[in-house]
Formats: sequence, structure tokens, C-alpha cells
Amino acid sequence: MRAKFAATLAGALVACALLAQDLPPTTDAPQTQAPALQSQAAGARVPQIRRHLERTTRPSSFALISEALALGQISAETALLYRVFATFGDERLPAAYVGDDSALVESPVNLAAVRVALPTLSAEAQAALRPFLVPPIYEGSWMAPGTSAPSARRLDTPPMCGRQATGWEWVQTSNGKVRIWWLGLQPDAGQADAAHATEMASWIDNDIWPRLVEVMQEGHQPVSDLSQAPCNGGNGLLDVYLTDVPHCVADPYLACGPSPVYVLVARNTGRQTLAHEIMHAFQYSYKLAGGCLSDNEKYRWWGEATAQWAMDYVYPSRQGEQDAAPAFLKYPEVALNTFNEYHEYGAYLLPFYIHRSTGNPFTIGLSWATCEASDVPDALHAIDAVVDGGFDRLWPEFVLHNWNGAPVDDYQHWDSLAYHASTYDGSVYNPPQVAPDLELSFPVDLPRLSATYAHYKFTTDDARSVAFWNGATFQLDKRDLGEGVMYTEDPLSAEEGKGGFVRALVKVEGKPWSIENWTERPWVTFCRDMADERLEELVLIVSNSDFQDYGRHLKAKTLPPTVWVSNLGCWQWTGTVEATSLVSPLSDFVEHIQTEVTWKRDPVFSGLAVHYTLGEGAASWWVTGGDCTGSGSYTLDGGSDNSFWTENHTPRENGLYYRAILGGGYCFRDVSMTCSGYQFDHQLGNWFEAPDPGSGQGTSRVKPDGTVDATFTDTNGGRTYTIKLTPQRQP
Ligand SMILES: [Zn+2]
Repeated sequence: MRAKFAATLAGALVACALLAQDLPPTTDAPQTQAPALQSQAAGARVPQIRRHLERTTRPSSFALISEALALGQISAETALLYRVFATFGDERLPAAYVGDDSALVESPVNLAAVRVALPTLSAEAQAALRPFLVPPIYEGSWMAPGTSAPSARRLDTPPMCGRQATGWEWVQTSNGKVRIWWLGLQPDAGQADAAHATEMASWIDNDIWPRLVEVMQEGHQPVSDLSQAPCNGGNGLLDVYLTDVPHCVADPYLACGPSPVYVLVARNTGRQTLAHEIMHAFQYSYKLAGGCLSDNEKYRWWGEATAQWAMDYVYPSRQGEQDAAPAFLKYPEVALNTFNEYHEYGAYLLPFYIHRSTGNPFTIGLSWATCEASDVPDALHAIDAVVDGGFDRLWPEFVLHNWNGAPVDDYQHWDSLAYHASTYDGSVYNPPQVAPDLELSFPVDLPRLSATYAHYKFTTDDARSVAFWNGATFQLDKRDLGEGVMYTEDPLSAEEGKGGFVRALVKVEGKPWSIENWTERPWVTFCRDMADERLEELVLIVSNSDFQDYGRHLKAKTLPPTVWVSNLGCWQWTGTVEATSLVSPLSDFVEHIQTEVTWKRDPVFSGLAVHYTLGEGAASWWVTGGDCTGSGSYTLDGGSDNSFWTENHTPRENGLYYRAILGGGYCFRDVSMTCSGYQFDHQLGNWFEAPDPGSGQGTSRVKPDGTVDATFTDTNGGRTYTIKLTPQRQP
């Protein structure tokens, strides 16, 4: 029982040390600057160094405690106690469990769940935890040392409050909704707190309350806490307490909504953080059909995401919410509704995208209202129901916008957001050279509502042929179907491909970026020798929009998606071919044909292999031996008698066709020659041949340096061909 209960708690409370000081607007800073630089540029008004919400080298206190629990070093009860100590900055937390909590937005502990669990704990643990469950203005609270909560009260049901402690003062908002408390015992600090509380009241009156009521709908304002007397601050208003908590806490009185809430904030809490915490009070007004808001994967992640979004919605020109963005964008392969103390805050980008892309913030409120419908089991289903087209349409567009760089940089324009999604390995691949070829793949193993990004740049001219093999939404394999091992692409079953989407961002030299859907394309090729296909950058985004099947991942079934880059030419080849006949019983002279040739890409018949037609061919011939003389020159025409193929995208495993060239050239040209004083009519033979490797006569290949210097002897036809070709790049 204990272990199960601890696991439930491990999820839950919300914080604000980082966000305690809201930042001034930074809209005047250049968009190209990193946010860290922007905050420096904002100067002395930034009170402390900002840290991004991502895992620092030392884990958080909560992570250290969870690890010790998992290793059996501490009991579930002790872990719970320590987590509450960490939440309140209590000195009883042993040093070994004091982590770096500076990047936490809120504490992951849910005090309502602690309250529910209390009766199951030891008497000592109950005594230690009880003060943290009492609002700070009451005797027995952690804020009123030296007092103790009335022991006569049942501890498993609120209230557990004693009398109000002395020294607390308050202001009320003009709208009659919120009371803000501070401890006025020390004159100087009390005066500063009084001034700050008054300022907070004006933020609530002027900005926070009107905006949140507008978006969350009139019927879902924070629930009155009249029923919670005597712990309720004396009336039904929402109580906000200025305290010394290291992290803000929006604490519901009841584990499940609708529940009234009280809010503990740090004494210097700024307006954006206040908006975040008050958004939680709005969220607790809903009766969620599938359970409690404290359920991390069902609702709580969306609670944090939309509370973080409220910071932007209420104060769009302030950017405190952006601190959470890296915790999402650096881990795109993590499921959307993950709750890990960080990711759920960064997930504010989803409501941000929904709001800013449509101009309609009401979808966010509607998602919460939809969570009350009896057939909606969690927040994901609610979001799917309220956005146009559901996740199938939303998710590929959202992850595209998370790229937040050319050509999709709306976040920069909407909100000066400079963070962008990380690639699967955190880098951009730009090979300094390709020869002879590179096979680059990236992993696809995507849980519900996640994505992965791969980014390639091509600046070296020897990257001539590029192919994308779609191992994400096809079953990519290498198999021998009769011509040696080739890439093969078979469709996935509907179940295997569910939610899969492949997006390509394509930048070709001299052209604007194009945004393409490659989900249905088994492969895509580019010939960088051609000006029209001179790929400079390629960004591939694979995403999984499935939101229902938690156990399933969108995975590469056999081979992962692969980018194949080769120095094999694909536009035009120039060079020479020498054909020399063999001495045979039928002829004692030798025929030579030397041709200067240009092969030109045939756009019609080019695909994975490239077909060329004869562009120009200047041939000269002569005979030697057998007392024969004769020579001449002529121009080869470009007829279909002459053809040339290159196997640009055949994998290395294919010993027959890898880098093969194929083709033939025929002249059937009538000439005359002289042998032993007599004139003969003669028909010249083939000027060019590179046999099909499948014919068993061997393979003529492009060399690793990209040129052709091949010799083929055709014993049947009685000729030897020496082929020297160099690939050309279209100017
Ligand atoms: Zn929160």
C-alpha cells in the first residue's frame, strides 16, 4: 500500500523561485539574439541570473529523493516527508537530498494528495507534515513556529486549522475576488510586503482576473472556500499568502475538483507568476470527468502547460514563460503529456501555438470545459475534440512550428521566441566531403504525440546524388529481389503507421524554402549537379500524432529513415571512349574508334537510376594491321541507338550494381578502307559498351573519386572499350 501511495504522490505541487521576478518586456531586443542575451540587454532590472528550465548537472531535490526511494534507501513515507521539506525549503531535509532546484517552476508535490494520504502515515510523519497542510495565517502552520495544530481534530479531513496567528494583514482586490495576505510583524519587511501586496491586487484587478475569466468562461471562476472554514481566511475569497516558500504552491483544499484553492507565493512574486498560480485556481473549478487534476498524465501536465501559457496570454509582452520552452524543445521525442518537473511547463507551447496560430484563445478554455464531459477521459481527448481536425491535423503543424527557424519562424514573429526544437542528436550534419558515398540514418522511436528532427546541409560539390529513403512511414529494407540487394519500400499496416507523418523542409539553391509532405513518398531524390535540384539544406521531421495508445511507439519497422549521399554524377558526363576490335580469324586488321562524348541526363527516364542521351559525340576511326589503311571522322547522332545509365542509389551491399554504369553505342556506319591495294566497303562496329552487370560479363563502375576509368572486353563481340568520363556540374 505504501509504495503505491508514494507513486501517486510522486507526481504532484507547483513553484516559482525562478519566475519570482518577472522580466521586463524584451520586445525591443533584436530577434536574432538568444534569450539569455536579451535578458542581459535588459540590464539592471533583471534581478537575478535566469536559468533555463532544463536539467542541470545536479538533479533537483525531488529527483534525488525519488532515486533514493527507488533504490530502497528510504521508505515511501520518508520520501514523502523529504519532498514536502524540499517544497518548503525546510532545513530538516538532509544535505544529501538537497539538489539544484533553481530551474524548477514549482514543486512537483501535490499537497492535496499529501492531505489525503496523511491518515495512512505514522504518528511522527503526521506530526511533521501537518504544519505544511495548514494555511500560513493559522496557528499550527509551518509559518507560525512554536504553535501546534489542535490535536483533537481529525487529521484526515480538513479543517485542521487553529486560531489565526497574530500579525497577518491583508488587502482585497477591487473586484472582490482575492485577498492577499502578508506578515506585518517586522516593520520594514512588512511595509515592503504591504506595498507589494497592493501592487499584486492591481495586477489581479486590471490584468489577470479579467483575462482569465474571459478565456476560462464565466462559470469557472475559482471556487469559494466558504465551506473550508475555519481554514479559509475568514470568507469565500481566494487567499494569496506572501511567504518565504522557495517555490509557489497552488494548494487545493480537496484532492479532486471542483475545489477551492489557496496560493502560497514568494514575497517578491511578479505578475506573470501570479497569473500562473491564479490560473491553477481557475483550473480547480472544473469537475474533471476522468479523475483529479493531480493525475499527472491525464490532467496535471495540461494544468501546468495552460498555467504557463496564461503568463503569455495575460502578459504577452513579457517573456517569463519562455524560460520553460527549452524543457520541451530540447526533448521532442518525449510524449506531450509527460510530467517530469520540467517538460509539462514547456508544453505551454501547444496552447501558445493553438492560440497564436488561430488568434483564438478560447479553445484553451473550451478544452477545460470539455474535460467535464462524461465521455472525455483525459485532457488529450479534450484537446483532440476542440481543435480543428484533432491531433491528426494539429500535431504535424505544431511540431513543424517548433522548428522555429527558416522557413517556419512564426514563434519569432509572434513572441520573439528564439528557442527551437533540437535535432535527434543535437547537431546539423554537413559532410566536408562525400566520396564515395554516405548512408546517414536517424532513429525513429516515437511515443504518442512526439517528434524527431534531422537536419542536413550540403555545401560540398561532391555531394551529387541525394536520396531520402522513407523508413518512417514505409517498411524500408534492403533485399535481393533478383538484381542484388536493393532498397525496398513496402507499405506499413494501418496499425503500424498510425499517427505517422513525415515533413520535409527543402532548400534548393536560388529558390525559396519549400515545405513538403513526404508521408506517402517511399523515396525522394535530388540531383545536386542540376541547378534546379541543388539541395542546400534538408530538414526532416517525423512525428506521431496518435494520442490514445500509450503502449505503442511509431517505430522504424526494419531500417530507419536514411539519407543517401553519393558523389555519383547525375546531370552530365563528358570524356572519351576508345573502342578497339580484337584480332580474330575473320579479320587480321584492327579497328579503332575514338569518341569524345557528352552524355546528358534524360529527365523522362531518370529515377533511382539515371538515364542519359547522347548530347554530342565526335568520333574518329582508323584501322591498323593486316596491310590495311583507312581513317576518317564523323559525328555521332543522338538517336536511341546510344544510351547510358548510372546506378546512383544502389546500396553498397549490391556487389553487382553498386556504382555501376551501363550502356551501349552503335554506329553501323559505312566507310571504305584499303587493304593490300584493294578498296573495301566496311561497316564500323560498336563505339561504346558497358554491359549490364546482370549479363554476367562484369561490372563497369564509377571510381570512388567520382570519375569513370573503366575497361571492358567483350569477347563475344570481339572488342575492348576504354571509357573515361568525368561528371559535370550544371553552371
Ligand atoms: Zn503551475
